[in-house]
Amino acid sequence: MPAKIISGTEVAKQIREEIKQEVADLKARHNLVPGLATILLGDDPASKSYISGKEKAAIALGIYSERIDLPASTNEEELLALIGRLNSDPKIHGILVQVPLPKHINETRVLYAIDPKKDADGFHPVNLGRLMIGDPDFIPCTPYGIQQLLVRSGIKTDGAEVVIVGRSNLVGKPIANILLQKKAGANATVTICHTGTRDLKAHTLKADILIVAAGQPGYITVDMVKEGAVVIDVGVNRIGKTPAGKDILVGDVDFDRIKEKAGFITPVPGGVGPMTITMLMTNTVKAAKLAAGMA
Ligand code: NAP
Repeated sequence: MPAKIISGTEVAKQIREEIKQEVADLKARHNLVPGLATILLGDDPASKSYISGKEKAAIALGIYSERIDLPASTNEEELLALIGRLNSDPKIHGILVQVPLPKHINETRVLYAIDPKKDADGFHPVNLGRLMIGDPDFIPCTPYGIQQLLVRSGIKTDGAEVVIVGRSNLVGKPIANILLQKKAGANATVTICHTGTRDLKAHTLKADILIVAAGQPGYITVDMVKEGAVVIDVGVNRIGKTPAGKDILVGDVDFDRIKEKAGFITPVPGGVGPMTITMLMTNTVKAAKLAAGMA
């Protein structure tokens, strides 16, 4: 039987409705308006489109949005000064700096400068450390979105063999830490694979839940997947343009063949992607509640 397609678009829509309701409630009952500042340096088209998506989502949900576009030539001290100002601005609860940053700026220094209590992206080492010990304020958005896709699709993680391909700080390591916790929606046995893994297929074939974030188009083939497995494809690879000039996007798994064997599968686009921005909104609302002593 073909796999059930997990629609990130649908799940994200559901969560956004919940957030919209919560934002309206915070405003009406507590006079609290969650605020998100987004900072973009330069005019890379992909980064511009990501930041516009975040701004649009915030506005649609009733979140106060401050978008700051700066020239690529902005120096590190100017950027750090801006972050310092936003750190102490009570209207702003979440701060997001769009990466990658221009090469003359030390990305780590910039991300570390964000107040951990306003780190809506969840990348600050304080938040990543708290995630590791199972006490996070903020969870990085893509991994958080993956967990929500699993939970809201009724997929049992408790006791499941989860295999993750990719160990980035952005996706692989945080999703491993989330699913490892002794908690509902987690409690899995987790294996992380990477380019140093000796026999990748031996691992992927054991997976009840296979999460692929390698950035390699179509890398996972049907023979690497167990019958009935849940396959979460995080990869977003641009492999060309349509005649109309739009990017052609594919994931890291051979979707067409694997969907005939898997139990559940996420498409690209329309799978993990829509969840990332949605979880940024969730984190921004949480940051506002934390600032108001309500969380
Ligand atoms: P990354 O930093 O490049 O990390 C890729 C990871 O995959 C690395 O750990 C690498 O191993 C591993 N890997 C690469 N090729 C491999 C291979 N042939 N066999 C085994 N492991 C391999 O990438 P990322 O930031 O995690 O992103 C991964 C993918 O997810 C990209 O396509 C990205 O565009 C996508 N993504 C999507 C979203 C979304 O919202 N949908 C968000 C973030 C990322 P080593 O560590 O050994 O090099």
